[in-house]
Amino acid sequence: MRNALHVLTDELKRLKAAGVKTVSVPDETLAALRQAMQQNCGSGMADRGKAQIAAPEPVAVVSATPLIAAWTPPPAKSEIQNPKSEIKKLPPPPVFALPEGDKATRWAWLRDRVLGDPVCRAHVRPGKKVVFGVGSIDAQIMFVGEAPGADEEVQGEPFVGPAGQLLTRMIQAMGLQRQQVYIGNIMNWRPELPTGADGRQYGNREPTEEEMGYCLPYLRAQIDVIAPTILVALGSTASKGLLGMRAFKTLGEVRGRWHEYCGRPLMVTYHPSYLLRKETESKLGERRAKRAAWEDFLLVMQRAGLSISDKQRGYFLDK
Ligand code: URA
Repeated sequence: MRNALHVLTDELKRLKAAGVKTVSVPDETLAALRQAMQQNCGSGMADRGKAQIAAPEPVAVVSATPLIAAWTPPPAKSEIQNPKSEIKKLPPPPVFALPEGDKATRWAWLRDRVLGDPVCRAHVRPGKKVVFGVGSIDAQIMFVGEAPGADEEVQGEPFVGPAGQLLTRMIQAMGLQRQQVYIGNIMNWRPELPTGADGRQYGNREPTEEEMGYCLPYLRAQIDVIAPTILVALGSTASKGLLGMRAFKTLGEVRGRWHEYCGRPLMVTYHPSYLLRKETESKLGERRAKRAAWEDFLLVMQRAGLSISDKQRGYFLDK
């Protein structure tokens, strides 16, 4: 199956290079690909025991999703928003095997690998940092965001800016400390914007599919090492990274429901930046969005076996 997959993906790449934009795949092939993906994900390397971690062939932690998606690329929104930006062409996503050892050893190895990845490093401007996940390596709950922003690339830590501070408050509202969960991003670098005459970048842009495809194996490997019992995707980009680029059109289609990523339950909710934007619009809109997000968090708490007080149940319900 693995060989067949390679042959198929090579053929898809060849067709893509030849300018073919869409390929119709028979249902059986699609089902086989899904099954192969499922097997590739399994329940995570961390759960599978050392024999497989030490397999002679490097464990490809590349999900098949970006490969399948690679031959039907939509126009990248970022390119529309920033027609002048020159987004560097990337090499294929990294393929690597995690070393043997305990969680801490494997996590530290992975962190070093990501921080030292030449492609990641080439994408951060001087003085800025590649950003790897933070938190407890024994976390039950793992939050997944989109990409580092201005504050994160300075500190080298995910979710430390305004959106991160809101996320931290939401985690505390769950009765947890930020250090008790794990927080990662789809991207390990801040997607570049054109630099102004003053040498500063303004705003953020969504990562392209190619950029996400490059970084996803690193997120996937963090999930494998941490082995959280629950994943929470924050916003559309994170959800597309985990569910597939074409899994939905609007976040509303998938938000507030349980999905699955590599055998782990995945809750999709709003990105804290969206909630912050709502704060600037109307009080009612803000409360509605925050209540909706909070209901998603209540589902996560329930599934995680955390106790929920009446006060917690009632957040954002008044007025
Ligand atoms: N937004 C994200 O998605 N991730 C971060 O780390 C910060 C802001």
